[in-house]
Amino acid sequence: MSAETGPEDCLFCKIVSGDIDADVVHETATTVAFRDRNPQAPTHVLVIPRSHYANAADLAVGEPETAAHLFDAARAIAEQEGLGEGYRLVFNTGAAAHQTVFHAHMHVLGGRAMTWPPG
Ligand code: AMP
Ligand code: ZN
Repeated sequence: MSAETGPEDCLFCKIVSGDIDADVVHETATTVAFRDRNPQAPTHVLVIPRSHYANAADLAVGEPETAAHLFDAARAIAEQEGLGEGYRLVFNTGAAAHQTVFHAHMHVLGGRAMTWPPG
């Protein structure tokens, strides 16, 4: 999948529309959250806007209120997953930062101690 992928052939748009199954853990009018299929921590959830934006920067410009909704969804997910000890929110932005799906998504990682710097 390239940075030029549009909504019509976007994996995460298909999860929003229900054409591809996902383990959905939280939904709002503007966001959908589901478990990552290749989890990097005991809790690894992706929170995405229902609208297609290639990355977090484009979302912030195009729909800033929805960008804020992603953070509120992360707060709710952290609460429901029992991540009171701490959790990490990550937006990989651009291929060099290991973005592989070009529909904006926030990783919510928790349930284990985290290290720094990230890889
Ligand atoms: P990134 O590397 O930041 O673009 O993250 C994309 C994430 O999407 C990776 O962690 C993948 O494991 C995850 N992923 C890809 N396809 C699916 C899918 N169909 N369901 C759930 N997670 C997925
Ligand atoms: Zn999309």
